[in-house]
Amino acid sequence: MRRQCKCIMCPVGCEIEIVLDDSGNVVEVIGGLCERGRNFAKETAGQNMQIVTTTIKLAKPVGEVRVVPVKTLTPVPVSQMKEVVSYLKTLVVQPPVKVGDVIADNIGGKYIIVVATRSVGTS
Ligand code: SF4
Repeated sequence: MRRQCKCIMCPVGCEIEIVLDDSGNVVEVIGGLCERGRNFAKETAGQNMQIVTTTIKLAKPVGEVRVVPVKTLTPVPVSQMKEVVSYLKTLVVQPPVKVGDVIADNIGGKYIIVVATRSVGTS
């Protein structure tokens, strides 16, 4: 079985392919510019990866709106989702916010990019 993943250990964002045997063991890692990324791929090969979505508080309400919805640009290992969400809950964003604005980009020392999924206070 082959799986694709995008390395989140630095801004380069290499695509890495992992070849697994029938038992789910990693037999080959293809791609990635460095050992750090290949190790990331091996460690997360058997894990589910998901886009994280949540909301972040606005520093001041915009009408009735008090939060802005956000998501990670790349899937995050499920084992790290709690850390990501906990960190995002500590943030406060100053409006206006445009859809696609980068809200956070270095959570837990990893290059996990979080962007706004809706504009707030831009019109
Ligand atoms: S494989 Fe290395 S260079 Fe590529 S994204 Fe990962 S850490 Fe960066």
